[in-house]
Formats: sequence, C-alpha cells, structure tokens
Amino acid sequence: MKKEIEKALKNVILMNKKNIIESGFVKKIDLLNNKIVIYLILDNPAMHFKNELIKNIKNSIKSINILYTICFKIEMKSESSINIKPVIKNIIAIASGKGGVGKSTIATNIAVSLKEMGFHVGLLDADIYGPSIPLMFNIEKKNINTITHKNGIINPIISYGVKILSIGFFLKYGEAIVWRGPMVTKVLRQFIHETYWGELDFLIVDLPPGTGDIHLSILQEITLQGIVIVSTSQKIALSDVNRSVGMFRMKSIYVPIIGIIENMSFFFTKKEKEKYYFFGKNGVKNFSKKSNIFFLGEIPMLQEIRKYSDLGIPIVLKNDIIKNMFINITKNIINQINQLYIKN
Ligand code: ADP
Repeated sequence: MKKEIEKALKNVILMNKKNIIESGFVKKIDLLNNKIVIYLILDNPAMHFKNELIKNIKNSIKSINILYTICFKIEMKSESSINIKPVIKNIIAIASGKGGVGKSTIATNIAVSLKEMGFHVGLLDADIYGPSIPLMFNIEKKNINTITHKNGIINPIISYGVKILSIGFFLKYGEAIVWRGPMVTKVLRQFIHETYWGELDFLIVDLPPGTGDIHLSILQEITLQGIVIVSTSQKIALSDVNRSVGMFRMKSIYVPIIGIIENMSFFFTKKEKEKYYFFGKNGVKNFSKKSNIFFLGEIPMLQEIRKYSDLGIPIVLKNDIIKNMFINITKNIINQINQLYIKN
C-alpha cells in the first residue's frame, strides 16, 4: 500500500516541474488503522501553497484509497546557519488591467494602513514599466549603492514604517527598462529570497499593469495569498481587467482574487457639492457581480490624494476621512483572505 501511495505522490508536480517525492517534500508515510498519515517538510510557508499541495495530494491518492482517511503532519524546513530567510505570512499582489488607474497609490496606502493597524509590512514594487513607489514614499533618490548589504544581501529601505524594495532603486532617474520575463524573475527571486525582510505579516507586491510574459513569470515565482485588483469604472479599464482576471484564473497559474477596488470613483463638483461620476457610475460594482469578485470598496478622486502622492506622503497619514476609507478596504481584504482560506 505504501508503495502505491508513493507512486501516486509522484504525480504531484511542483512549479519547478519536479514531483514532491524527488523534491524531498515527503518525509515519511505511515499507515495506522484506517488512517494514512503523510509527513511533509515544506520550504514555503504560504497558506495558499500548502492548501494547493494538500488538495493535489488528496486527488492523486483518491483512486487507490478506498477506506483510509488522509492526515497530514507538516513541518517547515529549518534554515541554515545564518537565518536570512524571511518569514512572510501573507504575500498579496495589487494588480490592474490598465496603467494609470491608481494601482500604486492604492498599494501605498494599503501598506501604510496595515502598518497603522499594527502589522509588520513590506512593499515590493515590481512594476517594471513605471516603478512609482519610491516617489510615493519620498525615497526616489535611493539607489542600489545605498541599499545593498556588503555580503550581497539586500536591505529594504524603511519609510513610514514600511519596508520597501523597488525595481526603481536599480535604475538611474529617467532610465527605462527593457527586461524580459526570465530577467525580471531572477531579480524578483532575489528581492524575495535574498532580502532582509525579517518577519512580515504582509508583503504587498505592486505588479506591472496588464497581462503578459512578465506576469506569468512573476506569478510562477511568488506564491501569493491572493490578488487585489484596482480599476476605474471606465469601460476600457474594465475590459483590460477582464483579461487580467482570465489570466489569474488560468489553471496553470491559478491565484485567488481577493477582491476589486474602485479608484477615482467620483469627485465633488465645486458649486453643487454633488458627486460627479467621471468614469461612469457602478461600472466596477457591476463588473464585480458579473465576474463573482468581491467588491472591497471605493476611493474618490481627490486633488489631495494626487498632491500628497506627488509630495511622497501617503494620504492616509494626512486625512482622517480618507484614512478611514482605506482602513475599511484593508479590513475587507483581511476578512476576505480569512474566508478564502477557511473555506478551503
Ligand atoms: P498606476 O499605478 O495604476 O499607474 P498611480 O497610482 O501611479 O497609477 O496613479 C496615477 C496618477 O493618478 C498619480 O498621479 C496619482 O497621484 C493619481 N491618483 C491615483 N488615485 C487618485 C485618486 N483617488 N484621486 C486623485 N488622484 C489619484
């Protein structure tokens, strides 16, 4: 029976194309009364990774297991002598279909809101097309020379209590990047695994807009807890979001979508003090219903948000009304993550 189980487990293939037996993830298999106990040693602490693995293991031994219940004992691989390996509890990516919808502004303010709520937070700017996080945290003058540790391990820069690493630190001002997927993947691997993140409750990843080669590389490299999508209600923006949703739901890279945020939903007209829906009303809400995606909340279009973002100060530290809006959205994100992972 054990042999059969082992054979079946060889059908569970990981991202690196190896099966879980050859990757050394299975420590031992015990057969007790009517139970199969599988002892796993994992090197990836993310819940999403664990849940997916357990689901695949159960599926693979379904055909040979008629009477037994399956249990798992999971331990994490211990680190080597110098422990630089970060312990990151949740990695969440912020994505958009289109550029310019406020993805980085939202990522910035969610990161600072989480910090204000008492969490340890990191922010990884992976937007290779327009890394704007350094500007939004007033650290755009930093570069590789000021952040690389002498033994080659990267130190993130702390601003407003958030640990930040941006692909922009590795570029001179105004320099464009023409990188291909594998290069980006290599750099991101270093950003995640060879960086002194320490213990983080949340690592927020600001993804590049759109869909493509680079996204596939990023999504295959990082085990994400889920994706938060940002969009305006404009038809063009939503049609791009629709393509992104299709990508996140592809079987080969499936990542749960935590929810969608509507940005720049309305502004107040000066005279009438009425809400003016510049990009259209209810576009994101209707899209979220149609696509079965949780609506996390909306942020209006306000000059103050633009102004403080240009000054490198997250708006949540300046305006309590907007801060409450972001805190509510952030709480919704946390609730949704809890629900996603309790259900599985
Ligand atoms: P993206 O990351 O999607 O390209 P950004 O976050 O860089 O978008 O935002 C684009 C521009 O819009 C920035 O100048 C930013 O300050 C501004 N912006 C974003 N959200 C708002 C908002 N709710 N109100 C006013 N300006 C905003």
